[in-house]
Parts: sequence; C-alpha cells; structure tokens
Amino acid sequence: MPPDELSSPEYQGQRDSDLAHRSAFGGFVYLGFLAALWATTDYFSSHPALLAAITGISVACGAGRFLLGYRFERMYGRNPAAWRAAYSLVINLNALAWGLFLMATFLLYGYRDWKTLLLLICLAGTAPIALAALTPSPAVIRTFLIALTAPMIAANLYLGSTLNYTMALVFFWYLVFAAGHARVLHRQYVDYTLEKFALAAAKKSAEDANRAKSAFLANMGHELRTPMNAILGMTHLALNSPADSERRQYLLMVKSAGESLLAMLNRLLDFSKIEAGKIELEAVPFSVRRLSDETMQSLVAEARSKGIQLRSYVDASVPLRLQGDPLRLRQVMVNVVGNALKFTNQGEIESRISRIQDPATGVLLQFTVKDTGIGIAPEKQQSIFEAFEQADSSTTRKYGGTGLGLAISSRIVEMMGGRMWVESEPGRGSSFHWTARFAIASEKAAGGVQEGAKAVIPAAATPNLKILVAEDHAMSRQLLKKLLEMRGYLVVAVANGSEALRAMEQQVFDLVLMDIHMPELDGIGTAAEIRRREQGGKPVPIIAMTAESAESLRERYVTSGITEYFAKPIKPDRLFELIEKVYRGVNAAGMSGTA
Ligand code: ADP
Repeated sequence: MPPDELSSPEYQGQRDSDLAHRSAFGGFVYLGFLAALWATTDYFSSHPALLAAITGISVACGAGRFLLGYRFERMYGRNPAAWRAAYSLVINLNALAWGLFLMATFLLYGYRDWKTLLLLICLAGTAPIALAALTPSPAVIRTFLIALTAPMIAANLYLGSTLNYTMALVFFWYLVFAAGHARVLHRQYVDYTLEKFALAAAKKSAEDANRAKSAFLANMGHELRTPMNAILGMTHLALNSPADSERRQYLLMVKSAGESLLAMLNRLLDFSKIEAGKIELEAVPFSVRRLSDETMQSLVAEARSKGIQLRSYVDASVPLRLQGDPLRLRQVMVNVVGNALKFTNQGEIESRISRIQDPATGVLLQFTVKDTGIGIAPEKQQSIFEAFEQADSSTTRKYGGTGLGLAISSRIVEMMGGRMWVESEPGRGSSFHWTARFAIASEKAAGGVQEGAKAVIPAAATPNLKILVAEDHAMSRQLLKKLLEMRGYLVVAVANGSEALRAMEQQVFDLVLMDIHMPELDGIGTAAEIRRREQGGKPVPIIAMTAESAESLRERYVTSGITEYFAKPIKPDRLFELIEKVYRGVNAAGMSGTA
C-alpha cells in the first residue's frame, strides 16, 4: 500500500466516512445485552450499582456514537481530527467498560453462573460483527479487541489455576485470530478504496479529455471552415471565368468534393459543439407546417430522380404558430428524411406531424418519417443513435455518410424536451419517430413569424454600392472582394478594424461588411467606434460575419450597433440578398440573423 496515498486527506476522509456509516448503529447492540441482564437475571438485586454504571456508560457511548455518525458530514467538516478522537473514544470507552464488566461478573460469580455465560456468548458473538464494521480503521479495531479481552486475560492470569490459565489462553488465542482476520479485511478495504479512487480519477480525466477535445474541435470550427470556404469560393470564381471544358469538368469535381467535405466538417463540428455544451436553442415564432412543406419541397427533386413518392401530412390539431428553434428542427427533419431517401430505392416516404399531448405549458408534437427502404437490423436499432455508428459497414460504403446525423438529431431533440426512436424491419422499411416540446407563440410574436431558415426575398442588385470589407484572413478577403466586385459593387478591402476606421475617415461607404474575429480591433469594437464617430448622423449599415452561433452574441451585436449578422460559411447568393436588404432598409429597425 503506498503510504502517501493512505495519509492523503482524501483517503482519510473516505475511511472515516465509511467507518461512521458502517458502525454508527453498532453502539446499540449493547442495549440488547443489558435488557437480557435486567429482565432475566438477579444482577440488579445483587449488584445494582454495577449494572446501573454499565447501563449508563453504554447508553452514553451508544448515543455519542450514533450522533457522531448521524451528523458526520457537518462535524467532520469542521474538525476531522476532533471527530476522529471523539469517535475512537466512544467506541473504545464502551469496549473497555464491557471488558471490565465481563471481568467483574466473572470475578463475582465465576464461570458456572448463567450471567457470566450470557455475557461471554454476547460479547463473543458481537466481536466478529464489530470487526467487519470497524474494518476501515485498524487502530480502532486493535484497541477495541484489546479493551474487550485484556481484562479477562489479566483476571485469569491473576487467579492462576489451570482452568484460569486455559481460559486466558483461549481469550488470547481469540484475540490473535480476530486481530489477524481484521488485518486481512482491512487490507481488502484499502485495495478496494484505492481502486475506487483510481477509477474515479481515470473517469474524470477521460471526461476532461473528451470535453477538451470537443471544445478544441468546436473552437477549431472557424479555422477549419475558413480555408474550406476559400477553396469553394475560388472554385466558384474560376467556374465563372472562361475555361475550356476539360478544366471546367475538373473544377466541377473540385467543387462537389469541396462541398461534401464542408458538409462533413460541419456535421463533425456541430456534434462537437453539442458535446461541449456550446449549443443553445433559439425561441422564435415559426410555423411548423411551412417548415415541413419547405423541407419536403427541398427534397422533392432528389426523390423524383430516384422515382420515390414523398408525402407529408400535418394533423389539424397542430397549432399554426409555435415558438422554438426552426433551424434546428429543420436540421433534424432534413437529416431523417434525407436518410430515408438515401436508404430507399423504391416506394414512398411519408412524413407526419401530430400533436400528442399538452404538457403544463406549450405542446408536445410527434414527428414520424416512414420509408419503404432497406430497413435496419433489430440489434442495430439502438446503436445508430450513437456517434459514428452505422448499421452496416457495407451499406456505408455504398451510401456514404458520417454516422453523426442521428447522433446530432437525437441530441437536438432531447434539448427540445423530446426523444427519438426507430421501428424497423429489414427489407421492409423504417419509421423514425421523434417528439419535441414547443411553446405556443403569442399573437403579437406571431405577426413576425420567421419561417425557419428561409432566406430573405431576393431583390434586384443595386450596382455601384460602395462597400468596405474588413476581414483578416487574406484568402477570404480576396474572395469576398472578388465576389462583391462580380456583383457590380465597388469594394475596398482591409485587414482589421483599425484599418477599416482609417478607410472610413478618407471615404464614405454605403455599407460595411466585417468579420467579427479580427486581430487588434475586432468587429464588435469597430462597430461601436463607427457608431460613436457618427454621433447621431445617418448610420452606415454594418453587416457582421461570424462562424460562431450568432444567437449567443445577439445582445452584444445590438448594443455595439451592428445592423445584421451573417453566419459563415459564405453562400454568395444569400450574402448578396442580405446586402440588398440591409441597404434598402428592409427590416432596418430589427435584428434578424441569417444563417
Ligand atoms: P449517416 O451519415 O451514416 O447516414 P446517421 O447517423 O444519419 O449517419 O445514420 C446512421 C446509420 O443509421 C446509417 O449509416 C444507416 O446505417 C442507418 N439508417 C439511418 N436511417 C436509415 C433508414 N431510413 N433506413 C435504413 N437505415 C438507416
């Protein structure tokens, strides 16, 4: 046993806590022996003082022991050494009193008296139980055993007959064996406790490492996506410039590979964000019917190309306007319906939404997506909801995928107060079900129902807008500049907030497009400074770009004067739409994120 570990406060605390919890009630065992003595013997009439004394000591020590055990956390927390001393005292004092009482009974009445025999039976029976209860502390066991047996050994040695020597030897033998056995029990206790500590430490470090990994990946999101966006953006540019057909073919392949790599990256990062607890759900008004229609609509072309029928039903009982996170709900729907499409080669896919129950507040909806696809083997129906799990590696090679979609979806659904499950028969098809809770949107909020992630109304380009772009990443900056110039805007691009402020001193811009994460002066600081310098004059619209969950930063954006924000990765068409919208002052009064 490593001695330093045994002297650690952590081990000692555990040991004393175990000692208290195992043995606090043990003090009461003596009360049973006393009752037998009072009720069935003439002890009280022949030696009342002795019986009263042992009764008093037993009751006091038993109560003290119970109290010290019952209030362990509080008393031990205040002074561990004092608790230990007090507990040891009440146990040993009691044991010593009973050792002496047995000796006195033996001296007064001899071996042949029933009272002596009764006490011998009681104490010999109690000692092994006490050994088990006192196992955490070898010191207490040792003193307990000695206190109980030493008076009898001493008295027998003192009396000196053959019978007495024999009895002294029997008691001594008993003491040796009990102490030996106590040692074995104690060693097992130490091994078990240290192993428990080692396991707890290993578990904690594994959890810490997992959390650190998830946090690292979540933070890396920005770094990983930026070059990916640049690759895709540059390909977009190259495809828009004259190129011979062979080169164009290669570029189209680069584009498609880049897009699927970005999609996988997004899933991986999304999952690590969920694991790291970095995702918060929005609560905005939306219509679940429109969300369902739009989601199914977006998958119609793919279904048609496979010759599969898509049907979607929303029960009449589903409220028109709900409050929740439409983006995340759509993500779950796209994933489950997308899977159904992926794993179905003929037949149909049916999506149904119904209201199953009204919790105390809001509504609980059940979503079902039923397909006539390849189905899932019963033993895999549970594991597919875990990260990186796929039902069959051969189908994976055929159909592709990361094994993260359902893990992400089921966690999102849990965050929405629901759960996800599957019923499936291999060869016949699967039904994925999930539930989710929503609040019912108030009439006022319903006025501005946000239809999921629907992009803003496309508007005609306003050419010759003068746009200031602030972005620290050189490739992204160049890409943005090129994209905006292709659209017909006049662009000045700078690398950070300070340069942006300098540029604004020299020229007037119609709009500022700016990254949030920049060295020196970041987007939020720059926006605040721009607003300060305007001093109530006509405000220039500022669009912030961010790779983080913009929702969590909404408040900071509003207070720093940012007009709109745009979630990376950059999708050119959406960015153009947002610029037009912001410039024309549509919705200029409020914030509405575009992801
Ligand atoms: P993936 O990206 O691999 O599709 P998911 O987590 O979305 O990851 O799905 C995990 C696995 O569950 C899939 O690889 C597939 O084996 C199985 N699966 C999911 N949906 C269906 C379905 N509708 N029919 C058959 N198998 C499915």
